[in-house]
Amino acid sequence: MTALTEHKAEVRTLVRDARERGVRVGLVPTMGAMHAGHASLLRAARGENGFVVASLFVNPIQFGPHEDFAKYPRTLEQDLDLCRREGVDLVFAPTPAEMYPAGFATTIHVAGLGEKMCGGVRPGHFDGVCTVVAKLLEIVQPDVAYFGEKDAQQLAIVRRMVRDMDLEVEIRGCPLVREPDGLAMSSRNAYLSPDERRQALTLSSALAEARQAIEAGQRSAAAVATQVRRRLEASEGVRLEYAVAVDPDTLADLTEIKDTVLVAVAARVGKTRLIDNVLLRGLK
Ligand code: AMP
Repeated sequence: MTALTEHKAEVRTLVRDARERGVRVGLVPTMGAMHAGHASLLRAARGENGFVVASLFVNPIQFGPHEDFAKYPRTLEQDLDLCRREGVDLVFAPTPAEMYPAGFATTIHVAGLGEKMCGGVRPGHFDGVCTVVAKLLEIVQPDVAYFGEKDAQQLAIVRRMVRDMDLEVEIRGCPLVREPDGLAMSSRNAYLSPDERRQALTLSSALAEARQAIEAGQRSAAAVATQVRRRLEASEGVRLEYAVAVDPDTLADLTEIKDTVLVAVAARVGKTRLIDNVLLRGLK
């Protein structure tokens, strides 16, 4: 049985009941419009916890004034079906007023990490993300919270926030899920026309080339980033925002690639903003 509530108080009660049964609690925060990427997080949570909470909230404060908050896809019924199929115990789908009552005035800002890459293009975005994630962690108080490596910068920032604020939760990163042709799954892919969908494939193919180059021994981060940048700049219909090769935990630029690297890109295809990355760990 999957319960559904829009009330924080009910979440607290149901989680407390679960804890009294001695089970571990897992949280999967989402904005809904769920796809196989979200499903993989739910499955990971289901495998490791006795009580799984999915939150479903299009968080207004992480969208800029000219971004797609109003038209972001909202597919509650399908999302609930997916949550039922994946054995979620509780879906928390609050209204904006439940999360941000009148007079709400607090934000969480992770300096440095939150200002580069996507943070440079979307000022304030990660403050909105951190604020809502901190609230969700406090409302649910999970043992483990699950985030996708698709949003690698978000994952690094959430980990840093949890460490800095001594929040008692384990943050689990889950692998990026792709369409069969390589496109990173995203709720925003629904915006793409068939032509744009084809053009968008350059992101994943440029990153696949970067992966091959690194696996073949390329150790210059600048060379990798330049290779990806050139490929995307030359690609029809794609407007590159950034292409970087950084440390996945600190997001600091790398000179030499040692055992770990995050190669990350953001670009617009038509009006749609897409991000993608490859994360390599344990390189020799
Ligand atoms: P969103 O609903 O876009 O905020 O995403 C909710 C969670 O799902 C975030 O932790 C994302 O990183 C994760 N996620 C979204 N797309 C993917 C994907 N293609 N593969 C893995 N995780 C994903």
